Amino acid sequence: MKKILVTGGAGFVGSHLCKRLVKNKNEVICVDNLYTGYRSNIYELLNHPNFQFILHDITFPLYIEVDEIYNLACPASPIQYQKNPVQTIKTSVIGTINMLGLAKRTNAKFLQASTSEIYGDPKVHPQTEDYWGNVNPIGIRSCYDEGKRCAETLCMDYNRQYKIDTKIARIFNTYGSNMDTNDGRVISNFIVQSLKNKNITIYGDGHQTRSFCYIDDLIDALIKFMRTKNFIGPLNIGNSDEFTIEDLAKKIIEFSSSKSVLVYKKLPIDDPKQRKPNITNAKKFLEWNPQINLDIGLKKTIEWFKKKLTEV
Ligand code: NAD
Ligand code: UDP
Repeated sequence: MKKILVTGGAGFVGSHLCKRLVKNKNEVICVDNLYTGYRSNIYELLNHPNFQFILHDITFPLYIEVDEIYNLACPASPIQYQKNPVQTIKTSVIGTINMLGLAKRTNAKFLQASTSEIYGDPKVHPQTEDYWGNVNPIGIRSCYDEGKRCAETLCMDYNRQYKIDTKIARIFNTYGSNMDTNDGRVISNFIVQSLKNKNITIYGDGHQTRSFCYIDDLIDALIKFMRTKNFIGPLNIGNSDEFTIEDLAKKIIEFSSSKSVLVYKKLPIDDPKQRKPNITNAKKFLEWNPQINLDIGLKKTIEWFKKKLTEV
């Protein structure tokens, strides 16, 4: 039985990962400071004999014994990571140094949850892993984008200097159950607005694009990536079907039989105009391909939010 640490394990992605790893008969330690995560996301695991929750901030050292580390801790929604930008960058830089230090001491494999944001507002489309990106180093998104870029550098240097088996997963927009209703990301915002028949808030003209990956597909890829040996990547992980934000809004209105109407708001600063991963490498090296298309994934996610909203 492997002992696996998931930092940020009470968040959206982390909670799904913890559940899958416990299901796969691993011993899982979830570390989270509950900044954007919730105990309710891991509620069904709390009494499981192979699961342990530690309330801890990874910007402080952690002394435990583990075989694998998934470093997911970091708020992912622009609204959340911009609330306390200094803490965001500390989490990606100091937190990642602490977790890589733990990997070094325990000789654990280490997977970093990086992001498509490291490409910034990309001038190469679709984005391939060899593209270095177009990132504003001093803007309001920089605490997240540059923090994650630095975390990638750290993974490369700990590999070159200390031979740690690090892996860099560049995750593109992912959605599904356990997203926070107030998280501010586009899919959760639009679904909650639709289900409440409120105005759908499109930022800008809605012609900007994103490619959305269903959570189960992402979890499959992360676990397959961790199983590789001495393979760092970086690897793009996402769904390569590209949609405008306006199209996304229309689908969500249709699938939730909503009376909502679209309203157009100011586009946030440095909001990327287009995003679509080239996933040739993930397909080849992980033998992985996303299985859930946007229509199916949205319908499942809408059902989950419907239940969630009736509980509140
Ligand atoms: P999330 O905000 O739901 O989860 C992040 C978790 O990390 C939360 O539980 C939060 O409390 C915890 N956390 C934050 N700072 C911490 C700290 N200093 N110490 C301990 N715990 C801390 O976000 P998510 O969508 O689950 O994203 C998980 C990871 O995946 C993040 O690193 C994010 O950058 C990356 N990612 C996510 C997406 C996506 O679309 N969801 C896309 C690209 C990258
Ligand atoms: N967006 C929007 N309305 C919302 C929330 C987001 O139009 O209520 C837009 C946002 O400006 C961006 C896209 O949707 O162009 C994706 O935003 P999100 O915050 O989900 O992720 P990111 O910008 O990090 O890809």
